[in-house]
Amino acid sequence: MQVSIEPGVLYVVATPIGNLADITYRAVEILQSVSLIAAEDTRRSRPLLRHYGIATPMISLHEHNEASRAKELLTRLHCGESIALISDAGTPLISDPGYRLVAAVRAAGMRVAPVPGPSAAITALSAAGLPTDRFVFEGFLPARPGARERRLRELKAEIRTLILYESSHRIGAALEAMRDVLGAQRQAVLARELTKTFENLHGDTLEALCVWVNQDSNRQRGEFVVLIEGAKDVQEQTVLPDTRRLLSLLLTELPVKTAARLTADLIGEKKNSLYQLALSLDAGSARRSGANFRQKRNKR
Ligand code: SAM
Repeated sequence: MQVSIEPGVLYVVATPIGNLADITYRAVEILQSVSLIAAEDTRRSRPLLRHYGIATPMISLHEHNEASRAKELLTRLHCGESIALISDAGTPLISDPGYRLVAAVRAAGMRVAPVPGPSAAITALSAAGLPTDRFVFEGFLPARPGARERRLRELKAEIRTLILYESSHRIGAALEAMRDVLGAQRQAVLARELTKTFENLHGDTLEALCVWVNQDSNRQRGEFVVLIEGAKDVQEQTVLPDTRRLLSLLLTELPVKTAARLTADLIGEKKNSLYQLALSLDAGSARRSGANFRQKRNKR
């Protein structure tokens, strides 16, 4: 089938996430036929273009020059050029540059045409064996431990499957933070080096995954998607943040039973459900400060 290229159109083209063969016929034809390719890193895209005999001129578009490049590319589109946007791997704009350009082109009333292909998130989800009917893509967690923990706390009660990206130098610490905040028994799947030679999808509880990655430094190499099953615990989903905050505060000073009873009296919730939540909050904070926990256990 012949692919026709229209003037003044921005094509958003997905490229492989590892295996060079994972590109569509249409993507190759568009990359061969447009007047210009805007690439996140022209050096990184060159091997792919060479592999498919694509000699189209390239220009860089990355997070540091996107604002100025967007203006320049918009002018070229207005002049009737057709442009393809690609990133280093996968679908542009998905944890990759391009948002400003796409928004500017659409705001100018010009056409943006998606050319679909791989994205690590969907690739991992399709083979992880976790529920796929509803899921949430969270991209990268913040790099700093405090901000990362806060983000995870916001996600703790999420019932949909969570999909996160992680880099090799943070995967160990990120998994430990997930275990501490989301719970040691939560099921998760670590999808590493998808479509590449050392592709591996390993599923277990967050606790067991932390042990597993630390057993062999090779398991911390490469690129990762972390998929986590949604929250199952009804109390986690329904207890309001203020109730949780009060309970957490009381738990710093009081035994679990007393903290749960006082919170139930003050808020008007059922004592039993708050007791279960208090137990899980207490266990989570214990892992972060072992000594304090042992002291409180003796009080119980
Ligand atoms: N635009 C890309 C996409 O559509 O998936 C994502 C780009 S983002 C800068 C790069 C991150 O995606 C990596 O750090 C990793 O978390 C994930 N990723 C990309 N390729 C991967 C692969 N082959 N296997 C596992 N994760 C991958």
